[in-house]
Amino acid sequence: MTVPRIELINGTSIPQLGFGVAQVSPEDTADTVRKALEVGYRHIDTAQMYENEAGVGEAIRAAGIPRDELYITSKLNTGFHRPEDARVGFGETLERLGLDRIDLFLIHWPMPTQYDGDFVSTWKTLGEFVEDGRAASIGVSNFQPDHLDKIVAETGVVPVVNQVEVHPFFANEGVRSANAKHGVVTEAWSPIAQGTVSDDDTIGEIATLVGRSPAQVALRWHIQRGDVIFPKSTKVERMKQNFEIFDFELSPNAMSTLDELDRGEAGRLGPNPDVFDYIPS
Ligand code: NDP
Repeated sequence: MTVPRIELINGTSIPQLGFGVAQVSPEDTADTVRKALEVGYRHIDTAQMYENEAGVGEAIRAAGIPRDELYITSKLNTGFHRPEDARVGFGETLERLGLDRIDLFLIHWPMPTQYDGDFVSTWKTLGEFVEDGRAASIGVSNFQPDHLDKIVAETGVVPVVNQVEVHPFFANEGVRSANAKHGVVTEAWSPIAQGTVSDDDTIGEIATLVGRSPAQVALRWHIQRGDVIFPKSTKVERMKQNFEIFDFELSPNAMSTLDELDRGEAGRLGPNPDVFDYIPS
């Protein structure tokens, strides 16, 4: 199964399918990522907040896969937005991953109600990591359209991606079109709505029709919309299932039926980025 790559605005590219490790415990991460790499995943999405970067590092070292075949993303924790904290935090991320260079580093949340509303200086600081060669690309996560407009207007540096909640029940079209307007690729987090796509009758009917699982149908919907995804599972069978989505296609009819499942704000599962202000202790 060959995973397509999506071109980014800075001339690099990213595998459209990866593996997410949110809520994988620090003790289980190395083993879980080892299994994902065995299945064929080469793109791993972690974060300082997940406290499992070291496990990701352990698994990629043990796997012995050539570095240029891997694509590793991490994210700045919400307590590290001040430039000096971001510099220290980024150095620690590289150390925990055991890497000299990361493929993609993101601001995890904009935190607009904290730091006097300043996420621009944080964004400028991430730019230093590209300049010194320790990050191939930088981007953002959970940025609303006005946050995106602000960093682009004030720095001229366009994030390569904006990683936001997107799934059939929360299509997040406003943010997706703001991303597209700037040439920013959308990464869809919780792509199978944290597993709940399996409980939806409409998705179930399409799944029966195409002979796939509901999770595969939802993941394929994202792929055909052009977003980047990294479903999480601790189970090898599901890791395989979530990887096998490039040998079938959804019809335009099935795609629009899935589009109609969007519940707007009512479909959001995670926090609203405009008010999210959590800083881990
Ligand atoms: P997902 O939509 O990937 O769903 C994961 C859940 O679905 C788990 O409970 C998993 O259970 C279950 N599952 C996995 N595969 C299947 C399947 N084939 N059939 C049925 N159930 C399945 O949710 P996540 O919230 O984990 O999001 C994915 C990734 O997105 C994260 O790991 C993280 O990398 C990123 N993310 C980023 C955020 C951000 O703020 N930037 C916020 C949230 C997520 P089990 O493990 O038991 O298989």
